[in-house]
Amino acid sequence: MKSTQQAIELENKYGAHNYHPLPVVLEKGEGVFVWDPEGKKYYDFLSAYSAVNQGHCHPKIIQTLRDQSEKLTLVSRAFYSDMLGTYEEYMHNYFGYDKLLPMNTGAEAVETSIKLCRKWAYEKKGIEPDLAKILVAKGNFHGRTTSIISFSNDPLARENFGPYTPGFKSIPYDNLEALEEALQDPTVAGFLVEPIQGEAGVVVPSKGYLKKSYDLCKKNNALYIADEIQTGIARTGELLCVDHENVRPDIVILGKALSGGAYPVSAALADDEVMECIRPGEHGSTYGGNPLACAVAMAALDVVKDENLADNAEKLGNIFRAEMQNLITETNLITKVRGKGLLNAVVINDTPESDTAWNICLKLKENGLLAKPTHGNIIRFAPPLIMNEEQLQDCIKIIEKTVLEYEHATVT
Ligand SMILES: *Cc1c(COP(=O)(O)O)cnc(C)c1O
Repeated sequence: MKSTQQAIELENKYGAHNYHPLPVVLEKGEGVFVWDPEGKKYYDFLSAYSAVNQGHCHPKIIQTLRDQSEKLTLVSRAFYSDMLGTYEEYMHNYFGYDKLLPMNTGAEAVETSIKLCRKWAYEKKGIEPDLAKILVAKGNFHGRTTSIISFSNDPLARENFGPYTPGFKSIPYDNLEALEEALQDPTVAGFLVEPIQGEAGVVVPSKGYLKKSYDLCKKNNALYIADEIQTGIARTGELLCVDHENVRPDIVILGKALSGGAYPVSAALADDEVMECIRPGEHGSTYGGNPLACAVAMAALDVVKDENLADNAEKLGNIFRAEMQNLITETNLITKVRGKGLLNAVVINDTPESDTAWNICLKLKENGLLAKPTHGNIIRFAPPLIMNEEQLQDCIKIIEKTVLEYEHATVT
């Protein structure tokens, strides 16, 4: 087995440097815990960006993965499989949409939704060829493909990757006036939005924004496309984050925890009016909807219901934010806590260019808890949703202790 140092050296030497990981190597995971090669145990407070909502190596998901992998893993969509229709019906019953289009990664499901939206715009809304526009929100993160980064406003994600895909218009997030104005353009086909902007630093929009933005889209005959890749599957205390405001998007995009971290599985969900715009040969993926993915996704979603993960996320999230609010009264290092369910972040009292949040995360790691800064001075806290209250209290103690120690050490 490789030591921590060896594993890091190998990645640095032979891997592209397209990430900047915290210097911790993980070799085992179980539930809310992960271990490094030296045997040190950590609470995982990132959950692979909310992909392991069901906890690491959930026995039910892993057993399903094992069983199906011994039977049939891939047939491509050149043939039917006995699993795909079963899974599609399961998803219909689970999320209430007529149909599902299966993909693998989140970005692919976003691309799928963009294509669905454009196709619908030309074939149903009657927009002139090649004029369809999709509205997006500033600060968005929807993945890393060339088209998706074309409408990002993060310079790191965009710069020197042009020329960019046209047909997108960026408007401020959480701003209904800007949305209403943009929707006056009759070539607008849809609005692609994250119900909470995860990568931007867990930016929670004003109460009523989801419902009102949905209503505005409907009034102006534009599709409402919710990217629930990070916020969905119980993370925010409801099955989907849009459920908090009883919104039913025209297209729902799922990924990450759809497989509980065991396998890449993503999907776009829509009703026939939209989904039937795509016909044989027009879109697809070799691995999309493979039998292994179907089996894993059903097991992962069974776990979400069987273990009441949405309710647990809601309950623990309230405790977490209340405790962080208490901590704010004791320290100058944190200025704000925000989030919903178990998707939360604290804002560190320093500039985005500072390394304060990074250094706090290093200290958290030493104290047995893994979290990662986003946008410099924000730390996201998103543990697996199977965490229990005792474990959460233990984690809160680690965070409090680390923050107060850090403040003490830097002030004196
Ligand atoms: C992670 C994420 C994506 C991209 O998913 P990948 O599987 O990394 O391609 C898209 N949208 C949101 C909101 C995400 O959090």
